[in-house]
Amino acid sequence: TEGISVKDLAEKLGVRGKDLIATLLMRGVFVTVNQSLDAELVKDVAHQFGADTEIITFEDQMANEAIENVLAQENPDEHEVTRPPVVTVMGHVDHGKTSLLDAIRETDVAGGEAGGITQHIGAYKVKINKEGSPAFGREIVFLDTPGHEAFTRMRARGAKVTDIVVIVVAADDGVMPQTLEAVDHAKAANVPIIVAVNKIDKPDAQPDRVKQQLGDRGLVPEAWGGSTVFVDVSAKKKQNLDLLLEMICLVADLGNLKATPGRSAVGTVIEAKLDRGRGAVASVLVQNGTLRNQDSFIVGNTFGKIRAMFDDRGRAIEVAGPSTPVEILGLESMPEAGDTFLVTADRDKAKVISQYRKMKERESQLAKSSRVSLEGLAEKI
Ligand code: GDP
Ligand code: MG
Repeated sequence: TEGISVKDLAEKLGVRGKDLIATLLMRGVFVTVNQSLDAELVKDVAHQFGADTEIITFEDQMANEAIENVLAQENPDEHEVTRPPVVTVMGHVDHGKTSLLDAIRETDVAGGEAGGITQHIGAYKVKINKEGSPAFGREIVFLDTPGHEAFTRMRARGAKVTDIVVIVVAADDGVMPQTLEAVDHAKAANVPIIVAVNKIDKPDAQPDRVKQQLGDRGLVPEAWGGSTVFVDVSAKKKQNLDLLLEMICLVADLGNLKATPGRSAVGTVIEAKLDRGRGAVASVLVQNGTLRNQDSFIVGNTFGKIRAMFDDRGRAIEVAGPSTPVEILGLESMPEAGDTFLVTADRDKAKVISQYRKMKERESQLAKSSRVSLEGLAEKI
């Protein structure tokens, strides 16, 4: 049979060609990157890198087939709808991020359904119910773990969950180091920014100073001829919160956020925890498609089948459309925040793909450790 080239083998093993050549060299085999290797040698070398050639080929085939099946799933309803925006709140410590998130949520609970028990599932959805508001009836999702760390961690894992960043700046304190850090994060992620100038109820509030300070850094208020939306608010007095929500909808419209509810669900893990009694529990933001009770899924390196799901008020639900945070039960093991969630046609496929991913991860870890030891050797040669 035809052998595999050094280059292709290195790629399959997840190591650099140079390292593979060095390994072969130590065995007294001199090769170039494009040279073909015979099966016995491939097996030996692959083994040294912690991979089994037989298994790779077999599982690769299985997984590819499964992935193709998933992708080829019939999606009869490709009808697009506008989906609610997903918002992250960032800003300097003590400027009122938590207060603002709580105030928005309470306002909604009070107006929507009195007595609704709020659950912390890492995100919540509000509906604008102010009579006469141009955004009446529209929904917004807030990720309720404020802070740069969560945002950065998600981004580092390749997850894009945020459509809009609201930067909270206390009107008495003004722009501080973490305010600028938040601006940098939002800019790096290419996410539109809305500035909420908070604590305007305080006697020493200077909202215009905040506008000036941020204007100097390229965030010029619309009122001053720029393009950044600023809203003066008070989380404490629940002042202008409706206006902030309306502005979020306005900025969301510019982004033309669409989703296809007729597809099977795709999303991202916001949080995951081990719950005594319930096992592995994850908060997932459904980003596209519709998630249904009993759906099989893969998520990160694990998989499962929805045994039950709950909304942000702790109510059991059967379906969750685009831009809906849900808490799910039925995971085989713990996923991680930032993991991609994908519904598959059935449980067997979910299992095969997750096993494949686990193997890939193991493989790359093994490759990494052998790479470290080889690095030194390659230099000595
Ligand atoms: P975070 O660190 O950004 O989450 O800030 P917090 O929400 O914990 O708020 C920090 C402090 O500012 C708390 O003592 C809040 O009560 C207070 N605070 C938050 N928003 C307002 C506001 O609109 N007006 C006033 N006067 N105090 C506020
Ligand atoms: Mg806080």
